[in-house]
Amino acid sequence: MADYQVDIVIVGAGVIGLSAALALAPTKLNIVVLDAQPSHRPPPTQRALSDWAPRVTALTPASTKFLSELGAWQAIWEGGRVGPYTDMVVWDSEGTGLVEFDAKSLSLDALGYIVEAPITTDALVNLANQTANITIEWDTWLAQLDFDDHQATVVTRAGTNIRAQLVIGADGGRSVSRELAGIRTRQWSYGQKAIVATVRVAPGHASACWQAFLPTGPLALLPLSETDLCSIVWSLDDQEAESWIEADDGAFLKGLNLALGGRGPQVIDVSERQLFPLVQCHAIDYLRDRFVLVGDAAHAIHPLAGQGINLGLSDAKALAAEVLLAHKRNTEWWSPTVLKRYERQRKGDNLAMMAAMQAFKWGFGSRHPAATMLRNAGLTAVDAMPLAKRWFIKQAVGEG
Ligand SMILES: Cc1cc2nc3c(=O)[nH]c(=O)nc-3n(C[C@H](O)[C@H](O)[C@H](O)COP(=O)(O)OP(=O)(O)OC[C@H]3O[C@@H](n4cnc5c(N)ncnc54)[C@H](O)[C@@H]3O)c2cc1C
Repeated sequence: MADYQVDIVIVGAGVIGLSAALALAPTKLNIVVLDAQPSHRPPPTQRALSDWAPRVTALTPASTKFLSELGAWQAIWEGGRVGPYTDMVVWDSEGTGLVEFDAKSLSLDALGYIVEAPITTDALVNLANQTANITIEWDTWLAQLDFDDHQATVVTRAGTNIRAQLVIGADGGRSVSRELAGIRTRQWSYGQKAIVATVRVAPGHASACWQAFLPTGPLALLPLSETDLCSIVWSLDDQEAESWIEADDGAFLKGLNLALGGRGPQVIDVSERQLFPLVQCHAIDYLRDRFVLVGDAAHAIHPLAGQGINLGLSDAKALAAEVLLAHKRNTEWWSPTVLKRYERQRKGDNLAMMAAMQAFKWGFGSRHPAATMLRNAGLTAVDAMPLAKRWFIKQAVGEG
């Protein structure tokens, strides 16, 4: 393809890159979104156990509000594959600590919504395809980034030069754009992997998210739109996770029910299982001249609180708001001053969430009696104190 020029290049057509593109569309700037995937894959439509996408996300009401503003939530909701959850039950498998949250006590319809990641992406792709100033280029790999005083140049693996005023890196946790822009990261590997799968439960999940904190790592059951199906995310040390992948279904179900300890619904069937390595990674800076990071490219966090996508959507919203304002005022909307304002808004929140995940991981990973006592006392105290409970719920629904 011949070289060309646009205003903004977004690397990555995941949920966050596409949301950023749509939120920036009112500027009428020319936006191109590049993605390495060969083409857009249609989302699942069938409803058998094996048909559900392995990666699901728990969207907070704050995230669904933003997706509504973009015009995507309506299509996602009408597709009929959204699992609203009204309750959240969190417990410590080694002790007596238990916290329960419910939407009714907060006058909310739901604490959040479980949606398969490809469903959200599909709604965003359809909207982007209908937006005159957004073009998605599939099968296009970022290979090189060059910057000078006047522009940024994105070089694709096929050798096309795309010149732009601003490049947004939304290419996920293993971001190549972040590396090419020379942005360093702080990274923690947990030596753990997450097993994800769809499970059938009996007699039903009661529209609740169930989360057990086990010494080996957290285990979550997330309710899908079918009342007898949940998605699981089970974090385990590398070796143990791999052995559960190889186990037969009967042994896996036995192990899973044992881990749930009779507190969550009983699991009676399981789909094929997949493994994801767990890393926590935070970019030291979110920007350099004419380049800025959003979503997992800026901060990949442990999935134990299911907040990855929500933090990324808040990034996309905050960045677009700053660029829109600067553009409206006829100022240099790509300048570091504008990008810094976005970084200031988001870095604190993202770091706080990562620190909380680290503390949870440490606290619940320990069998030390003092840690067990603190956990039990802590969880039970949170459950008994309306103000503390409210603070936790605010984080969970994205109002923190
Ligand atoms: C096991 C697991 C469970 C999770 N559960 C939850 C949950 O319950 N709730 C939640 O909120 N979050 C969850 N997450 C996290 C969530 O999936 C991520 O936060 C979210 O997908 C990040 O979106 P993104 O658009 O930033 O990145 P991605 O979804 O990773 O998208 C990046 C895009 O960039 C493209 N790309 C990459 N490299 C290049 C390149 N060189 N050139 C061009 N394109 C490129 C990729 O093809 C991809 O389409 C989970 C994650 C894991 C691993």
